[in-house]
Amino acid sequence: MNKCKIEWLSESKVKISGVIDEFSTFESLFSKNLPEVWIDFSDVTRINSSGIREWVQAVLSTETVLHLENCSSVMVDQFSMIPEFVGKNGRVESFYCHYICDDCSHEDKDLLTVGKTIEPNQDFEPFLEKPCSNCGGTMELDHNPDIYFAFLRFTKVKAS
Ligand SMILES: [Zn+2]
Repeated sequence: MNKCKIEWLSESKVKISGVIDEFSTFESLFSKNLPEVWIDFSDVTRINSSGIREWVQAVLSTETVLHLENCSSVMVDQFSMIPEFVGKNGRVESFYCHYICDDCSHEDKDLLTVGKTIEPNQDFEPFLEKPCSNCGGTMELDHNPDIYFAFLRFTKVKAS
């Protein structure tokens, strides 16, 4: 069983991985009252409805500024459906997009950085397809772009 793991990588950087469910507790993330926390979500493989509830309660109870990084597609699916998911002061910094090749079934994923490789208000056309590194064919985005990218519209743009 792939349990939820919370691992501090540095003073203000934490990695959450595995399955987020009713057994996941996030108090330790915010008990230090840090001004900002960077959270790496690259290895979150699944989240169920109880896990969503635990997470949303935790992030709505803190004023800490959250930087959500390397978000797996499991997390991105939640951002667009549940705007509270990023918290009161949360920001999605980067997230993965999955691609699949029509011709050879090769799979690939790209990390998109918000404000760098993708702008919150830009057209998603450039991200719908890319060349297949295996056969040279065309890979297609393996998500519904209207849903998958929807959270970007709610994204607060960094004050410059
Ligand atoms: Zn291919």
